Amino acid sequence: MKIAVFATKPYDRRFLDEANRRPGHQLTYFEPRLDLSTAPLAKGFDAVCVFVNDRLDTATLKALAGDGVRAVALRCAGYNNVDLRAAEALGLTVIRVPAYSPEAVAEFTIALLLSLERSIPRAWARVRENNFALEGLIGRNLSGRTVGVVGTGRIGALVARSMLLGFGCRVLAYDVVQDPELVEIGVRYVDRDELLRGSEIITLHCPLTPETRHIIDARALDLAPSGVTVINTSRGALIDTPALIAALKSGKVAGVALDVYEQEGDLFFEDLSNEIVQDDVFQRLLTFPNVLITGHQAFLTQEALTAIAETTLAGLSEIDAGRTPANRVSSDSLRPAA
Ligand code: NAD
Repeated sequence: MKIAVFATKPYDRRFLDEANRRPGHQLTYFEPRLDLSTAPLAKGFDAVCVFVNDRLDTATLKALAGDGVRAVALRCAGYNNVDLRAAEALGLTVIRVPAYSPEAVAEFTIALLLSLERSIPRAWARVRENNFALEGLIGRNLSGRTVGVVGTGRIGALVARSMLLGFGCRVLAYDVVQDPELVEIGVRYVDRDELLRGSEIITLHCPLTPETRHIIDARALDLAPSGVTVINTSRGALIDTPALIAALKSGKVAGVALDVYEQEGDLFFEDLSNEIVQDDVFQRLLTFPNVLITGHQAFLTQEALTAIAETTLAGLSEIDAGRTPANRVSSDSLRPAA
């Protein structure tokens, strides 16, 4: 299959080339993200392979289909950046990587939480300047605190388990479906408002859908207890960032760790260290001493990159052979699970 691979970095190429030894697809790498302006690069290819910040709206999909593309392979789990109904109407098969390494994201979530709660990045910056003073670095134990997990799928379940069994936290959960194994170990499912009211730490692991967009907004932050910590390694638009900034300024929110940001498409994955960043909301976030931000790297482990490359190419091989791949995403996926 001839595949146009968009938004690629050297590490994507390395892992895709390695995984492609056996299927032997014809991979052509493009640095830019796929959107309407870059869609002509895919002319003559059978499939496009994209990542989290490529924009596959109706116009882009129409351009791709018109140029002969018949499949879209997402190198990620989330599919909020693809208009699935338009893809279906145009006869484009969309595949994703549903579970490349939930451990990678769950472990990173906990790493962020610990780093934030114990001020590790600030401490490291001080020590590098021979400043060994401890003032301002007082942390809080995780043990005994209540963690609210929003979305207990593959990643959220691992986080819930670790917090409960590993750190001795109480765990509240909110999801449209319950995981009986989590209930068995002592995770308590509650409704959304009860989770918000009762959680000292809120961690987001649900997908971005119309229902979950801005699930953490001014109202949600009002309900949360004073001193709440908010962690988001899922999708940026789960949080209304200006509302979060207001809650940080008032002191309602004691700490925030983010691996994702609503407008990250204009920033993340690029070296902008010589640029003047125009996003004032993001720049304000960076000024808080109790905010820790990483640039969408929770997935970035060798294990995850290997799994992403292998699953993506295997799915494309299935399409090439005329079969329906197990990792196909249809517009049915947009409906919340029963
Ligand atoms: P998953 O599909 O296994 O789990 C998602 C869970 O959210 C499911 O249990 C689902 O029932 C629940 N859910 C759906 N709608 C909901 C709603 N309205 N309210 C509450 N819960 C709802 O997905 P996963 O593999 O655990 O991944 C979770 C998210 O993490 C993905 O959607 C993706 O956006 C994000 N992610 C981020 C990175 C990263 O590098 N930062 C990497 C992988 C995934």
